[in-house]
Amino acid sequence: MTVSKAFLKQNRKKRLEQGHPWVYPGEIEKIEGDPQGGDVIHIVNHAGHFLAQGFYNPLSQLIIRVVTYSEVEVDETLFYDKLEQAWKRRQWLLPTATSCRVVHGEADFLPGIIIDKYEDVLVVQILSLGMEMRRQWIYQALKKLFNPRGIYERSDVPVRRLEGLEEREGFVEEPFDTHVTVIENGLKILVDVAEGQKTGYFFDQRENRAALKPLMTGWGLSHGIKVDETGKPKSASGREIKNPFWNGAEVLDCFSHTGSFMLHACHYGAKKVTCLDISEKAIEMAKENALLNGFLHRTEFVAANAFDFLREQVKEKKTWDVVILDPPAFAKNKQAIESAVRGYKEINLQGMKLVRPGGILVTASCSYHLSASRFFKMLQEAAIDAHKVLRLIEFRRAGIDHPVLLGSEETDYLKFAIYEVFER
Ligand code: SAH
Repeated sequence: MTVSKAFLKQNRKKRLEQGHPWVYPGEIEKIEGDPQGGDVIHIVNHAGHFLAQGFYNPLSQLIIRVVTYSEVEVDETLFYDKLEQAWKRRQWLLPTATSCRVVHGEADFLPGIIIDKYEDVLVVQILSLGMEMRRQWIYQALKKLFNPRGIYERSDVPVRRLEGLEEREGFVEEPFDTHVTVIENGLKILVDVAEGQKTGYFFDQRENRAALKPLMTGWGLSHGIKVDETGKPKSASGREIKNPFWNGAEVLDCFSHTGSFMLHACHYGAKKVTCLDISEKAIEMAKENALLNGFLHRTEFVAANAFDFLREQVKEKKTWDVVILDPPAFAKNKQAIESAVRGYKEINLQGMKLVRPGGILVTASCSYHLSASRFFKMLQEAAIDAHKVLRLIEFRRAGIDHPVLLGSEETDYLKFAIYEVFER
């Protein structure tokens, strides 16, 4: 069988050569052959010089997705090798992790597929027609590489329609218990891979959660507690403080989902954490997670809309030492950026007001349509309106198991910043 060829235009931006993994219809001069949706196609430049092989889908704006820069056969063996390499990279970079993202789509040279490992369970999300047609290759390779207790598919995402695919969700083979307790930074976290958001949990903030560590202690003095000459913590009135977490932070974990930031905050010494999420189910799970780790007495839970909650707390003049904001992606596409920015600004503005002078704002955005520079600008606008001055402690991205290709900003989506907040 001869492989079809897509000739790219001579006068195009050399994105493919810069590491970008997609070809758009407007970049193609002509197609030689009769490729069908999902077929492998050779991408060549205007002079016919080979550039890469990709999956072809005429229904999609991403008409070709690069699979390999070599001319090797795109077969089951190639898929196995790619999956093995992706897994080896994680074992190398995260040698102690038993749960992580194993495949991050294009950035692992497997376009349109996400694979998360939850201890002995694998969750797969398929987002491209090329992968959809070859999913048995992936399942076979995964069984060989991991011998998992089960594989669950979470292709229940509307973006599949852009590839002409229906949403799908369920057990790949035999049913199994979809509840898994994953270990992250030494904490136990209950995940339901069938019911949880996305593929069940967000591994991308693993390292960012660990970055909370130094922020969680050192607050006793600002709570009016002093250590006396015998080393005992005492209140301003001289009463001895019995709470072993007297030096810990009071934390608001907003958009908590199943409470991962709350768990880390407690683990690193927080005195009290308030967990807020709009989803009752997520809050129930967060509570179970607090119980599982022995943190129930240091936590409280609120199921509410963050926009209302934050405003109400400001009105009531409530404050926290550390406020964490990890909202969902408000900007689902380019057109929605400006309205999304208004949403981000509002929660950040209210969030800043809830931080005690000298306290900390931890703020994130997982929307790749919102660039890092727009994210900083949004924070600046919020700080101006809230009469605050922000001083950066750390700016971070997604964790090491979510690689980013230089030249493909789509793979670089997570922004995570830690600021000290001062009055102005
Ligand atoms: N911090 C979490 C991930 C947050 S995902 C973690 O590390 O695991 C975003 C969460 O925001 C979801 O759990 C969703 O239920 C919640 N959410 C969405 N809109 C909300 C709103 N208006 N108010 C409060 N929570 C909201």
